[in-house]
Amino acid sequence: MPYLRLAIPSPLRRLFDYLPPQGCDLATLQPGVRVKVPFGRREITGVLIELAETTEVPLNKLKPAIAVLDDAPPMPDTIFKLARWAGNYYQHPLGDALSQALPVLLRKGEPCEYTHQHLWRATADADISQLGKTAARQRELLLLLMEHPNGISEGAIRAEGGQTPLLKKLVDKMLAESFIHKPNHTEHNDQPLHEAPLTLNDEQHHAVSKITATEGFKTYLLQGVTGSGKTEVYLQAIEHYIRQGKQALILVPEIGLTPQTVARFKARFNLPVVVLHSNLTDNQRLDAWLQAREGVARIIIGTRSAIFTPLRNPGVIFIDEEHDTSFKQQEGFRYNARDLAVMRGHLEQIPVVLGTATPAIESLYNAKQGRYQWLKLNKRAGDALPPKFELLDIRQLPLQDGLSQPLIQQIKGHLQQGTQVLIFLNRRGFAPTMMCHDCGWIAGCHRCDAHMTLHRKPYHLHCHHCDSQRPVPNVCDNCGSHDLKPVGAGTERTEELLQALFPEFPVIRVDRDTTQRKNAMQHIMDRVHQGFPCILIGTQMLAKGHHFPKVTLVAILNADSGLFSADFRGMERTAQLILQVAGRAGRADHPGKVVMQTHHADHPTITSLVTEGYEAFAEQELSQRIGAHLPPSIYCAMFRAEANHPGQAERFLNNLRNLLAEDILQPQGIQWLGPLPSPMEKRAGQFRAQLVLQSHDRKALHQQLHNIICQVDSDPEARKVRWSVDVDPVDM
Ligand code: ADP
Ligand code: ZN
Ligand code: ZN
Repeated sequence: MPYLRLAIPSPLRRLFDYLPPQGCDLATLQPGVRVKVPFGRREITGVLIELAETTEVPLNKLKPAIAVLDDAPPMPDTIFKLARWAGNYYQHPLGDALSQALPVLLRKGEPCEYTHQHLWRATADADISQLGKTAARQRELLLLLMEHPNGISEGAIRAEGGQTPLLKKLVDKMLAESFIHKPNHTEHNDQPLHEAPLTLNDEQHHAVSKITATEGFKTYLLQGVTGSGKTEVYLQAIEHYIRQGKQALILVPEIGLTPQTVARFKARFNLPVVVLHSNLTDNQRLDAWLQAREGVARIIIGTRSAIFTPLRNPGVIFIDEEHDTSFKQQEGFRYNARDLAVMRGHLEQIPVVLGTATPAIESLYNAKQGRYQWLKLNKRAGDALPPKFELLDIRQLPLQDGLSQPLIQQIKGHLQQGTQVLIFLNRRGFAPTMMCHDCGWIAGCHRCDAHMTLHRKPYHLHCHHCDSQRPVPNVCDNCGSHDLKPVGAGTERTEELLQALFPEFPVIRVDRDTTQRKNAMQHIMDRVHQGFPCILIGTQMLAKGHHFPKVTLVAILNADSGLFSADFRGMERTAQLILQVAGRAGRADHPGKVVMQTHHADHPTITSLVTEGYEAFAEQELSQRIGAHLPPSIYCAMFRAEANHPGQAERFLNNLRNLLAEDILQPQGIQWLGPLPSPMEKRAGQFRAQLVLQSHDRKALHQQLHNIICQVDSDPEARKVRWSVDVDPVDM
């Protein structure tokens, strides 16, 4: 008798065998269906990988599965393959990888059907006179059903004051029935557009025609300077696929921050646009997933996890702001949705477009190697001109809460000419630290190797690494002095100064603290779009893809902050951020200017970035990485470990390193670095360390990871620390 071999969401990197449930028809079982099984003391939902003829589990240990939950696999074959591939590639337990590819309700074993479309209606020949006078509440309910011939949900019945427990009585009397309402399949729509598309310029036209002429799979790197009209390229390429009855999947870094992008899609297409954002309930998420799977939703916009959204007629995939690190999941299943998109395009045989003004060095490398086809938009769309840069050398200049006098004068000038000013400062809170003026003590986090940030509203100290908070002390912990001073400036403090300097203009702060409430970002955008002169001050939230036509001056207060970071990608991130922020200037008919305050006005990277642009910078950066044997010229994986006591994590990784050294099956050409304490060794009370493996040979690296993980998994010592492996890590 065959056994069910299942992938089960658990930390164990293996499959599990079960006996088929009673009365199960094995002939109809397809891989990919969900199976409910007993697991430890729980019941859990697994996914059938195969029917196995033999098993290593002793027969008396083998348990029967409880039930097969699906007639057909909920995931189409390509998603099944993609999730399996990803589990393998990222060295993540297969059961968990498959589970994460499903909507939460399906992970929990709920039926794979629309949740909101379970409706009630009166039967065709229902007659109210069949109910006796005594059944007043049943009469009311039946009347309500009769008022809704197209069906009404239980929720709506309750909202109307109807008594849902009585539905069963009506069903027994054949007066009411329930049915599944499926959204309409609008396979063909002669008028897929609400509004006429813009006339493309030559560069845009070239990009759209290349993408839409693709046969099968190909990856494009669409590198377009900010304001070059990349979104218009997406829209018109998507139109092509829509007219063929196909669907488009668009991944964006963060939906709440870019309501405008979603609005542009909805304004353009007269078709169901489904947005998978974090505020959806589990029910809404399942419904959206089903609509995508059944081809009802034609355009699907979502963040990272949307890469696993099934499509009935896949046409094209876009990754907007492909350089953004939010596409990489930083815990658990550490996949990179951008890289999975390329894999998915290959599986589905459709084009994949990676769009950005500032490509990741990895993507640039792939484009240079010919793996991606390079499409460039070098000019801004319409009549907009590129912004002019000014490096403002602030060495020896006094700073007033982060602002130098020459900058204050320029801000004044722009406001007086009636335009808007955007000020970028990558630190929220009032001041990054609080210091004792008498002894130099600094308020630190008790759980991290980090300073605590002083916040004014509400007044408290806050650690931005572990989120712990405490009251602001009145006296120094070290010497008892009362002379405690905030040091440096965060957005709250600079906001206060700007309000004092320019009382006649609104100052609008945009950071995590001011945008927490639902639709807060939308309200801020609406205010800015009214066009009155104002000052926007904020963190990188302001950098993400917004369009501010009235902003003529962009000021970057601490342009140097990422230059000397321990992470070799610090320079790349700084450059991307500077150009993204700068790109908010002068996007319409107003010329824009970007002022960068810096202590390193002659730093070669900064000067090449502002005089020659991102591509020149990126070329230099890439050749340095190749010279230093760093990614992307080499493949990389990282073991991380953390433990409650100092040294514990490092000892564990040291043992791992010794295992590596002794591994007789070790493939050629693997180097390892470390273990070393992590850049911030103590974080949230945990002591952390890391060990890096590198190779020019991706296969060898994966072979090595696989060997070593098998050994660690069977080592009881490993359970004393929390460890993880990160393939292609983005922060090191
Ligand atoms: P990007 O995404 O590259 O930063 P957008 O797609 O947001 O750029 O376009 C910037 C602005 O230029 C938008 O206001 C857009 O409507 C406008 N635009 C784009 N393409 C064209 C075009 N071909 N003709 C005129 N305006 C255009
Ligand atoms: Zn002191
Ligand atoms: Zn902390």
